[in-house]
Amino acid sequence: MFPHTRLRRLRKNSAIRGMLADPMPEPSKLVWPTFVVEGSGVKDEISSMPGQHRYSVDTLLGDVDRLLESGVRSVMLFGVVDGAHKSSDAAYALRDDAVVQRAVVELKRRFPELFVFTDICVCEYTSHGHCGIFSEEGEVLNDPTLELLSKMAVSHTSAGADAVAPSAMMDGQVAAIREALDGNGFQDALIMSYSTKFASSMYGPFRAAADSAPASGDRKSYQADFRNSAAALRESELDESEGADILMVKPALFYLDLISEIKRRSLLPLAAYNVSGEYSMLIASAERGWGDLTMMVRESIAAMARAGTDIIITYWANGYMEILKG
Ligand SMILES: [Zn+2]
Repeated sequence: MFPHTRLRRLRKNSAIRGMLADPMPEPSKLVWPTFVVEGSGVKDEISSMPGQHRYSVDTLLGDVDRLLESGVRSVMLFGVVDGAHKSSDAAYALRDDAVVQRAVVELKRRFPELFVFTDICVCEYTSHGHCGIFSEEGEVLNDPTLELLSKMAVSHTSAGADAVAPSAMMDGQVAAIREALDGNGFQDALIMSYSTKFASSMYGPFRAAADSAPASGDRKSYQADFRNSAAALRESELDESEGADILMVKPALFYLDLISEIKRRSLLPLAAYNVSGEYSMLIASAERGWGDLTMMVRESIAAMARAGTDIIITYWANGYMEILKG
């Protein structure tokens, strides 16, 4: 007790603080989510997410090369298509020559050591922008959507994806995808489920980037309600029982308590998705002179690690070396 105990002794200079610091996550703990588009020679910066781009497959290769050099060994791919490729049944998403499938083929050919996750959801490919089959009555139909998600997962895996990441928040999606993958000989493909994914207001910059905002209504009937923590925990428990290999909480920073709680309840690896709004709000704050960007990012990444994440999916991944140097 004070005055014998003085905690300031343990932080009196930078050397002792450094000795006692928890390590920052290694680059190998990070996954870089990124966006692929049709065409060639495309690298368009996303205005709502400075430092992030929409890439055609050829230009993506160059930036993934740099990513690997920096020690980050994994990407998660999202397809972005124009209106001509969108339909009510998201048929384009299932084509073996769709943009994500081609990107997977090229990435794995050029970088066999790269671990490739693909997002499995149809909202980027539906004309109505919802994450599943949409009924005339304006409802997203759960069970018919499962078949769509399963076919998409099989197509991505046959292109060479190491893992699929279903994000549609349909009940039973993990079990359906596992069965489809196993039935097609892809027993070794992992499923990283977006197991606890909230209907969050922090996805705005992503929706602008991926052009995936619903044309009408919202996603509150399928994504988790941030006001109901018991249901949010059940979502991850259910996905574990359906055979998910990795669980995930999305967004990350407003839900560190649930990350800790899920980590305590489950022995499965746990990922946190540090979403677009969490990325862009730090940039916006720094641009206004309200904080040092690198230090804010370091603090937020340390917080996600401390909460219990094994894997951090973050747009900071492609600049992580500079952030680590701080
Ligand atoms: Zn979706």
